Amino acid sequence: MQLTPNFALWEFERSDKAIEHGIDNRAPLFAVGNARVLCAAVLEPWRWLIGVDAGAEVPIEVRSGYRCKPLNKIVGGVALSRHLTAEAADCKPVGFDIDEAFSLLYELAMDGVPVDKAILYAPERGGSIHVAYSTSIEPRRRFYFWPAGRSLELWTPP
Ligand SMILES: [Zn+2]
Repeated sequence: MQLTPNFALWEFERSDKAIEHGIDNRAPLFAVGNARVLCAAVLEPWRWLIGVDAGAEVPIEVRSGYRCKPLNKIVGGVALSRHLTAEAADCKPVGFDIDEAFSLLYELAMDGVPVDKAILYAPERGGSIHVAYSTSIEPRRRFYFWPAGRSLELWTPP
């Protein structure tokens, strides 16, 4: 099932860990709805802006989207992880600088795109970008960097 023009449901459900542990990580309907809103409200505009910056389309890979409870536990996700409701996705632009992509996401958030929380993970932590939103609260637009060997720190634009 296609969620929005450039993002499909299977990208949100796939997980090597789930396969490895025989876990059924198919998203329930409410989570499918959330994933669709995340794509429409945040990921599509972000993909578009990265494309403008690069002068060509840049796909965004969803590395981890929806996580059912057993999967979330196995990957060490926090108890109230937004991944449990598909209100978050860990993403990576393909062939585009990740720091630059994070800056562009910040620009969008300052421009009204409803990013609640974004985390840039250092390469040692997987080198992806966690993007969370919520329709149930006013987006807080908090941006963090998670360096290797240290705790989460606030991120400000360079
Ligand atoms: Zn995440």
